[in-house]
Amino acid sequence: HGDSRDFDEEVQSICPFCGVGCQVSLKLKDGKVKYVEGLNGPANEGRLCVKGRFGYDYIHHPHRLTKPLIRLEGVEKGLNVDPANPFTHFREASWEEALDFAAGGMARLRDSEGGESVAGFGSAKCTNEEAYLFQKLIRQGFGHNNVDHCTRLCHASSVAALMENVGSGAVTATFNEIENADVAIVIGANPIENHPVAATFFKQFTKRGGKLIVLDPRAQSLKRFATHLLQFRPGADVPLLNAMMCVIVEEGLYDQDYIDGFTENWEVEKQHLAGFAPETLEDLTGVDAASIRAAARDFATAERGMIFWGMGVSQHIHGTDNSRCLINLALMTGNVGKPGTGLHPLRGQNNVQGASDAGLIPMFLPDYRDVTDDGVRSAFTEIWQSGDFSAQKGLTVTEIMDAIHDDRIKSMYILGENPAMSDPDVTHARDALAKLEHLVVQDIFLTETANYADVILPAAAFYEKNGTVTNTNRQVQMGRAAATPPGEAREDWQITIDLAQRLGLDWNYSHPSEIFAEMKLGMASLDNITWDRLEVENAVTYPSLSPEDPGQSIVFGDGFPRESGRARFTPASVIPPDEQPDAEYPMVLTTGRQLEHWHTGSMTRRSRVLDAVEPQANCSLHPSTLRKLGVEAGGSVRLATRRGEITLMARADRAVSPDMVFLPFAYVEAAANILTNPALDPYGKIPEFKFAAVKVTAA
Ligand code: SF4
Repeated sequence: HGDSRDFDEEVQSICPFCGVGCQVSLKLKDGKVKYVEGLNGPANEGRLCVKGRFGYDYIHHPHRLTKPLIRLEGVEKGLNVDPANPFTHFREASWEEALDFAAGGMARLRDSEGGESVAGFGSAKCTNEEAYLFQKLIRQGFGHNNVDHCTRLCHASSVAALMENVGSGAVTATFNEIENADVAIVIGANPIENHPVAATFFKQFTKRGGKLIVLDPRAQSLKRFATHLLQFRPGADVPLLNAMMCVIVEEGLYDQDYIDGFTENWEVEKQHLAGFAPETLEDLTGVDAASIRAAARDFATAERGMIFWGMGVSQHIHGTDNSRCLINLALMTGNVGKPGTGLHPLRGQNNVQGASDAGLIPMFLPDYRDVTDDGVRSAFTEIWQSGDFSAQKGLTVTEIMDAIHDDRIKSMYILGENPAMSDPDVTHARDALAKLEHLVVQDIFLTETANYADVILPAAAFYEKNGTVTNTNRQVQMGRAAATPPGEAREDWQITIDLAQRLGLDWNYSHPSEIFAEMKLGMASLDNITWDRLEVENAVTYPSLSPEDPGQSIVFGDGFPRESGRARFTPASVIPPDEQPDAEYPMVLTTGRQLEHWHTGSMTRRSRVLDAVEPQANCSLHPSTLRKLGVEAGGSVRLATRRGEITLMARADRAVSPDMVFLPFAYVEAAANILTNPALDPYGKIPEFKFAAVKVTAA
């Protein structure tokens, strides 16, 4: 660390990037973060990855928003700003003027066109208290449920399958529980890059003899630790998993006692699986039958097994079916509710679990309580001391963009989300944002989305605010402010309250702890977890059974929170990806993240070390594909789909198969989502980011 080891203040908080939720110690000098160390949190046990360790200095970046901004009269909305002078399309405003302008525009449309003309995107980068306030503002202030956030682009399909079949959308066991497992499946996840600290536990598991089964169309770096690597064809998750389960049925390796004691609908599932012998599916899956049988046997015969999955499973039009298969596999082998067992969708954002728990989704109120249920709604209107709001499920992220094009939505309040980069078929999303009559953006930087705003409200970064966040392990943790927001920037919860008051709501919170106390009134998941307790203990896992209980890392050992008390098998049939390769677009495009960059890059591309390591838009192609194209590694390629084209640097990478391209989505100069397919999974409403037909040419 050299001179940076010199610090005069130390603050304990939580890493703001991924869902692992590493506890950090921020070392400050003269009010600025100088370096970061890992603390002994329940998830990270002292470890940090490169993002947590080096990705902190974006908070001191000169392009932070420091004053409210209002768009200059007559300046067109769009991305045509000079990166060296990004603020030229806006003028500075006082907070009073900006808040009046922001709330006034939304109120005008609400009162003239109806509440449904205004929608909101909150953020999984904000605290639980901020997510809760945001959904409350849309429901109470506009009377409907058109409020969503990036869970829709992430694990919405996993949550749909878990809610349907297990009765709860969260993990059944922490990832650290792999310590007690004998076998683990990792499918459609690349934890070494995307959940790096969790990956260290996976590696240790293999070191002590645990069998790791990696199922992925990309032979990602975890393969070096795997007993089995099944590199299947993109989109063939359901036939592959059904084939594994077919083997388990054929060879009698299922756990009949567990099935009898804890599940329902087994006979239907068992019959369904009979049609999936691996020998008949080699062409479809791209995997030889012997390998499928060997992996299935190792999983089913182990005493204790866990299943981890990521966006490779969820971001398909059959994402919910993929997750149903994983749930079926865990249930038939009795791998839920005991030490070393469990279902674990690795959550992406630092607070996507908590934001979803807090009701920042269009179909559920806090704690996944159904908005269509009159009793549930009246419970919340009583807590909120407000009138009723719509009993209709709201629109999701991509549906809101369509509703803007259809003139049903005319104004949006977007807090911390960046749909101008993150939405599928992003040109369609950008056109929608440009069409809005009134767009309020609240963020820490002039993001691509903020370029479409009428008014921009400067917010505090995560290390500048106090509040709780909930990680992939269901651990509610205390985040603490280490630095002061730059200029006039303010914490998100404060700004949302100011807007709510101008929209006529009688909101009076003076500290996040008061918001947390209100959340507890409607969220049984927070029973026995208090602000004061978190101040002292830093993390408590839900459910916590008593004020002394640190929380249950494994749940559902004695039944499931469904009406029958049993988990359900839901058979999944094969549904091909929405768009098939053809003569014009012969290859498969799949998008994802890289170790050094976080999502749309707004934070990590402004972090000195991370941006230095990965400064340039890139994609990965197999060396043989590059040879055929006549392109050297490091040369330029053009990627084109039915929605658009981009040009960027190509890397040679044997992890992708010769008919595939892997494309990170952090780079605005070659935005991956110009290419992606917006087709949705019918249950989770998640887009098929993981499969599009693409043409690759030398550029
Ligand atoms: Fe942060 Fe995730 Fe890395 Fe931990 S693993 S340091 S939470 S990015």
